[in-house]
Amino acid sequence: MIDIESLDWAKSPDGLLPAIVQDAETLRVLMLGYVSRESLAQTLASGHVTFFSRSRNKLWTKGETSGHFLDLVSVQTDCDSDSILVMARPHGPTCHLGRTSCFPEARGDALAELDRLIATREAERPEGSYTTRLFEGGTRRIAQKVGEEGVETALAGVAQGDDELLGESADLFYHLLVLLRARGLGLADALAVLETRAR
Ligand code: AMP
Ligand code: ZN
Ligand code: ZN
Ligand code: ZN
Repeated sequence: MIDIESLDWAKSPDGLLPAIVQDAETLRVLMLGYVSRESLAQTLASGHVTFFSRSRNKLWTKGETSGHFLDLVSVQTDCDSDSILVMARPHGPTCHLGRTSCFPEARGDALAELDRLIATREAERPEGSYTTRLFEGGTRRIAQKVGEEGVETALAGVAQGDDELLGESADLFYHLLVLLRARGLGLADALAVLETRAR
């Protein structure tokens, strides 16, 4: 993944290098922290992103009190080896203010975020949720909804205005993600097929 000694530690007098953390699925920038050799070694060994806390002057595994760990996916260094980009899967909101990201307006992939929300609904089945009701109705019923929304989208595409087409497209994306999830699949699985076709 990364060779710790290949980083340019000499660049930083305090032995700390900045680490940008990005959500591996939604690609949203989550936070910036600082890593030491030791914190990076612990990150690689444990699979939980660990920083060096400058305010507390010690190793800090993000999530150690909140439970909102960052599961390590990959680490790469920048062009001159004095900063790192960490791809991770967050267990919950990364910012201690309860927000997904420490940068409140950081953009993410809305479809990937919807896919994750649907996966959470499927696992937790909260009462009163439309998504829960869809899952309880079974795969056949969900597939039927996808069919309906597909037809509505097609009709809007030839006989209605932009607002209607966009609304039906959103309905179709949502129901399609629910169908994939009901079959134990996700957006990334469908996108992987697209990638094999891209050339
Ligand atoms: P946690 O690591 O999530 O258990 O949070 C422990 C403490 O670390 C919090 O009370 C905050 O003081 C601090 N903290 C947590 N997340 C962040 C963050 N994303 N950026 C800066 N400080 C944080
Ligand atoms: Zn650099
Ligand atoms: Zn924050
Ligand atoms: Zn519709």
